[in-house]
Amino acid sequence: MEYIAPTKDMQFVINELAKLPEINALPVFEDATEDLVEAVLEQAGVFASEVFSPLNQPGDHHGTFIENDVVVSPPGFAEAYQQFIENGWQGIAKPAEFDGQNLPYLLHSAVSEMWNSANLSLSLCPLLTSGAIEAIHTHASESLQQQYLPKMVSGEWSGTMNLTEPQAGTDLAAVRTRAERDGDHYRIRGQKIFITWGAHEMSKNIVHLVLARLPDAPEGVKGISLFLVPRYLPNADGSPGERNDLKVVSLESKLGIHASPTCVMSYGDKEGAIGYLVGEEHNGLACMFTMMNNARLEVGIQGVSLSERAYQRALNFARERIQGNAFGQQGRVAIIHHPDVRRMLMQMRAISEAGRALAYLTAGESDLAHNAESAEARAKHQSRVDLFVPIVKAWCTEMSQEATSLGVQVHGGMGFIEETGAAQYLRDARILPIYEGTTGIQALDLMGRKIMRDGGKAVGELIDELKAFEAELSQQTGDIARISTQFSNALNALEDTTQWFLENAASNPFLAGAIGVNYQMLLGNVVCGWLMARSAIAAQTHIDAGNSDNFYRNKIKTAIFFAEQILPRALSLQTIVKAGEQSTMSIDVDSF
Ligand SMILES: Cc1cc2nc3c(=O)[nH]c(=O)nc-3n(C[C@H](O)[C@H](O)[C@H](O)COP(=O)(O)OP(=O)(O)OC[C@H]3O[C@@H](n4cnc5c(N)ncnc54)[C@H](O)[C@@H]3O)c2cc1C
Repeated sequence: MEYIAPTKDMQFVINELAKLPEINALPVFEDATEDLVEAVLEQAGVFASEVFSPLNQPGDHHGTFIENDVVVSPPGFAEAYQQFIENGWQGIAKPAEFDGQNLPYLLHSAVSEMWNSANLSLSLCPLLTSGAIEAIHTHASESLQQQYLPKMVSGEWSGTMNLTEPQAGTDLAAVRTRAERDGDHYRIRGQKIFITWGAHEMSKNIVHLVLARLPDAPEGVKGISLFLVPRYLPNADGSPGERNDLKVVSLESKLGIHASPTCVMSYGDKEGAIGYLVGEEHNGLACMFTMMNNARLEVGIQGVSLSERAYQRALNFARERIQGNAFGQQGRVAIIHHPDVRRMLMQMRAISEAGRALAYLTAGESDLAHNAESAEARAKHQSRVDLFVPIVKAWCTEMSQEATSLGVQVHGGMGFIEETGAAQYLRDARILPIYEGTTGIQALDLMGRKIMRDGGKAVGELIDELKAFEAELSQQTGDIARISTQFSNALNALEDTTQWFLENAASNPFLAGAIGVNYQMLLGNVVCGWLMARSAIAAQTHIDAGNSDNFYRNKIKTAIFFAEQILPRALSLQTIVKAGEQSTMSIDVDSF
């Protein structure tokens, strides 16, 4: 069963929730009209279904391996990637000065959802290139930008992110890869592990962004610098030239994303790999954060992608699988008639739609944060992006565990059998809450940098906005009125829990770490409840204007389901968070 892009929902979210009209009103995005967005989504949907999706399951079975020092990708991947770049998809939201199309990041996010739904392993390659482009564009010298960005924006050259080492995962202060000054460049020596698409033959060159430490660097994260280390050193005419001193040592065997090579990379076994400084010496982590923030949003979108894909497959199966009898139906029925199967399908559907709304809204805010006309407006939007990035990453990826697991469950025993395809989504999804900072690390970022550091200002402004919406929601009549009480209860839980955390956090060093993940899910739940409720109101406006498309009626029904069946988790999360850290920390390390 191939993937079908949910273009109608994407378009709806982009227009109604993620602020396309406001973005399109900016001179820089005057081309990004509703019609153009619709046309791009249609084309991308066809490409994802016809080119990426058919390679997903065969790619999972084939995997990747090293043969004669070359990483072998699954059959069809290189051709699909070539088509992808020839169609200009890599540069859709990249700057026009480097031959990109300069469309909003919001639109990029929607097409990125499609690529990842269709084939997560393959899509990781352009995803990392995209983040590398942004880091180079923001921090590298003009000459590095001119030399590398046009080829990366076209996709001719791909990009990677090299942070992790055996002793330095979450804790990047422990990075040991060394860099030494050598004239106008540096020599890099060390080993990196878990490098996604670190070696392959799909692109003509691979541009590695590598964290390393100079000999005179201070200890800790303040002593790390960022280097651009190409696989092939460019010739004067820009073509890939001499091979740099770096190589893939081995590939990891892993639970999922089998078609994405996860590489152990060795730099500088001979004379030292040539690297060029990006940003300033010792300030590499700040530069890498540009790439990591981008990648965190994109990984959140991967969560939406797999929830959606798992939903589509489960729905298809539930319509076809005949089993048992159901009240009001003649004879044996398709399992979609059973209320518990309907519960699972609705759960998956609501998770996908809510996650999409959250991720796209954040992408739209990011467009406004970079391009709004006044500095004040840019700062306001940036503050919302900063608050939302850990929530998108954590909520969408954690909920994708639930959605993909339900996808297996809907299939019964066949879900556990690889041939069906449902198991692949569950396996592939498992990496999402781990890479780009685990869910626990997102929570520390949220509780520390985003909530405690400004004394709760940004989250307070969000809660004020939700309260203003609560008043609007309470005026609704008909079915939508059913959302109102649930929303108020959840919002009260959020406000009370936030207040409690702010009052207790400073005096309790374990609190943020112990309750952060649950608070993060509470905040994600309420924000998603808000967006689903707004979706329902927007859908009602279309119905009231005479639009009879069933999409709008179903939108309202899914929003009500979210409000009644998922949003109330906020109340139990409130109880859990406010129980504090005591029981979590009660058994001594040595007594475990
Ligand atoms: C398939 C795959 C692809 C990857 N791709 C890349 C890539 O392209 N580039 C790259 O650089 N890296 C990549 N990674 C690495 C990935 O980002 C790390 O695995 C991840 O950040 C976690 O680091 P770690 O594995 O060392 O776990 P650890 O840091 O050892 O963490 C283990 C556990 O301890 C917790 N923990 C650790 N420190 C803290 C703390 N201070 N507070 C609270 N909890 C903590 C973590 O949340 C986790 O649950 C990839 C990994 C995989 C598996």
